[in-house]
Amino acid sequence: MIRLLLLLSLFFSLSASTPIRPIEVWIADDLDFLVEFYKERHQTPEISLREEKTAKVLASELRKVGFEVTENFGGYGIVGILKNGKGPTILYRTDMDALPMPEKTGLEYASKETVLLNGNEVGAMHSCGHDLHMTTWLGTARALAANKRQWKGTLLLIGQPAEEIGAGARMMLEAGLYEKFGVPDYGLGLHSSPTIKAGQIGVADGYTMANTEMIDIDVFGVGAHGASPHMSIDPVVISSMIIMELQTIVSRNVKPIDDAVVTVGAVQGGTVGNIIPDQVKLRLTVRTFKEEVRQLIHRRIKEVCNGTAMAAGLPKEKWPQVNIPEKFTPANYNHPELTKRVVKSAEESLGKQNVVYAEPQLVGEDFAMYGSTEDKVPTVLFWLGTVSQEKIDNNDLPGLHSPFYYPEPRESIETGVNVTSSILIDLFND
Ligand SMILES: [Zn+2]
Ligand SMILES: [Zn+2]
Repeated sequence: MIRLLLLLSLFFSLSASTPIRPIEVWIADDLDFLVEFYKERHQTPEISLREEKTAKVLASELRKVGFEVTENFGGYGIVGILKNGKGPTILYRTDMDALPMPEKTGLEYASKETVLLNGNEVGAMHSCGHDLHMTTWLGTARALAANKRQWKGTLLLIGQPAEEIGAGARMMLEAGLYEKFGVPDYGLGLHSSPTIKAGQIGVADGYTMANTEMIDIDVFGVGAHGASPHMSIDPVVISSMIIMELQTIVSRNVKPIDDAVVTVGAVQGGTVGNIIPDQVKLRLTVRTFKEEVRQLIHRRIKEVCNGTAMAAGLPKEKWPQVNIPEKFTPANYNHPELTKRVVKSAEESLGKQNVVYAEPQLVGEDFAMYGSTEDKVPTVLFWLGTVSQEKIDNNDLPGLHSPFYYPEPRESIETGVNVTSSILIDLFND
């Protein structure tokens, strides 16, 4: 009887034209377990590089359903493998870390955890939905393990640490992920969307998320008494000119059809009003899609800095120092051919109306690294809708990293597991 009701409710929750796949019935039966698992993860968040207990739980759950699991691979990273005959190897990644911030959702399963960060006790919260990613990932692992007759190949599941600090994917790749476990034929990932309705997914091909880098500029000068500016070469004034000049890089140097952001997020220098300091620090974030645009922006930042300092009368050795870190998070590129296949499977699983176009954003996601090695693995990262229609109607949509953000668990998990299982099965069987 329960099974019949589930079937009926599934039938009505999907559009009449969408045939129910057998695996969706299995997933509906697993939902209570998954929602409970989600709430446990939500209540026990661990921040970047401290995902020890979370990783242990995931590893143990994978082992229970027959995966061969390697732990502590690149920090607390885990790698789970399920071999099921001859076929492609597909990587599917979840992130595991939470953020150091107090939760303010008021949910009965809200996190009350705290962490010590730089000597201060602060709250910890899964405000980026990584708890939902882990649940969808485990749900998919369980569904594929229990329905092995429906696919052939090797499922390579990655539990990645430290996404929020843009370090975890690199840590796992540098630990030899592809050398040890083989280069996958495809890579798949998803991220919670705080604006797309639960029950839907959002996707686009090509560049969908940006090259993300933090650049620091040390601006030097000659300090003096605030009453004797003529005795100084004022780095506060030089910095202000640099900041204004940096605004022209995107508007005047980057081609209008290319996308980029140059944001000065912090200006640090001086102590009190009557001292002209001899140094100011500017902290920037630069976001781009194309490598040539990234290089152009680097060059222009240096030219603006040097030119402004020279005009202020500073000798060459006191021109600003532009610190560009070697390591950065590359832009996420959704492989067009693979995106087409993902969209087709998703439309068959959720109905055409529930697969929406998601416009590119200049946020960063280190999932991009899995497709950015010399192996050129085709990858797709899509958005999983998580919010209720009511919230969309009221325009009550706290963003990711907001202390008020939370997904609708049951519907988001069900959609996530259904769509990911369908995509994987279709890719395995093609
Ligand atoms: Zn985040
Ligand atoms: Zn995230």
